[in-house]
Amino acid sequence: MTDKVIPIHGALRSAPPAPRYDGGPLADTRGRPMRDLRISVTDRCNFRCTYCMPREVFDANYRFLPHEAILSFEEIARLAGIFVGLGVKKIRLTGGEPLLRKDLPRLVEMLAPLGADMTLTTNGSTLVKHAQALRDAGLNRITVSLDSLDDATFRAMNDADFPVAKVLEGIGAAANTGFAPVKVNMVVKRGVNDHQIVDAARYWRSAGRGGGHILRFIEFMDVGSTNGWRMDDVIPSAEVVRRIAEAFPLEPVEPNYAGEVAERWRYKDGAGEIGVISSVTQAFCRDCSRMRLSTEGSLYTCLFAQHGHDLKALLRGGAADDAIRDAIAAVWRLRDDRYSEIRTTETAKLRKVEMSYIGG
Ligand code: SAM
Repeated sequence: MTDKVIPIHGALRSAPPAPRYDGGPLADTRGRPMRDLRISVTDRCNFRCTYCMPREVFDANYRFLPHEAILSFEEIARLAGIFVGLGVKKIRLTGGEPLLRKDLPRLVEMLAPLGADMTLTTNGSTLVKHAQALRDAGLNRITVSLDSLDDATFRAMNDADFPVAKVLEGIGAAANTGFAPVKVNMVVKRGVNDHQIVDAARYWRSAGRGGGHILRFIEFMDVGSTNGWRMDDVIPSAEVVRRIAEAFPLEPVEPNYAGEVAERWRYKDGAGEIGVISSVTQAFCRDCSRMRLSTEGSLYTCLFAQHGHDLKALLRGGAADDAIRDAIAAVWRLRDDRYSEIRTTETAKLRKVEMSYIGG
């Protein structure tokens, strides 16, 4: 990347005019139900992964959201309750780095009574410290991002000189507190860490040293507008599967549920499974059931969105739960996003919101 691109926080639109929600099944214009809610609890991160928050953009001058702009735990919990009332079954806490948000276990504790499956995506850097409190608070599952087992490659990718060993310790701590199997996300970028694909598979297979966890390979995506994305840098999941299968034969596995993001493959020798997330080469928009709530309370119906809907104005303007529920239902019902199905090199240049802001 050469020119400095100023990231956008997404032009906000007011929530659309909201007819009273009649309690019926909530489906968007393509018939997709709303099942998942991703909540970004902070736009800050202690890593500067080159494909997500490049340091030349997210530098000392970058203005993260001020404290008063971000939703409080009480506001998040109130909204989450309304979402669950509208059919959401799964909540993922993310960011930025969610464990940078002070007292995150308190939020988990506030959300647990809603009964949704609650998961967290983290870079793992502080998991040793937080795993037990998260477990005690009622978190169900954890996904940890780790793009390489090779220390030099990993340090270069996180651009914070953070060592692999500490993330492995975090994964170990999570497993020891009852979060096993942990899902391990590896974003693959051509020429950067693709030489690590088979090594990672070997390590995380149940026969390997890190055995028992589930490795998932993510195609490098054109989220936001700052990561200098180029199609040439994407390793298609089919290539990932082919490279691993040459070393460890694989066979496909049925999805756990309709709309599962990762396509599953298992080792023929019984050493567990891997997942591949192919947003670029095999779009899964058709089944997308995800709504995203940004750190400052705007709603996004797609990871590649350019616009959000302002829920915070309703929340802080004194709207009753019913009015907020009607607004959320109206946003979902009008949703027609299918960005990954229509992606071209031209759409990739659109000014999309950053993943660190909207929640990964
Ligand atoms: N900080 C947490 C973490 O590292 O997991 C949560 C937020 S992060 C934005 C969520 C996930 O998005 C991580 O697994 C990260 O690797 C992935 N991600 C970020 N930018 C990406 C990109 N351009 N393409 C593919 N995955 C990306």
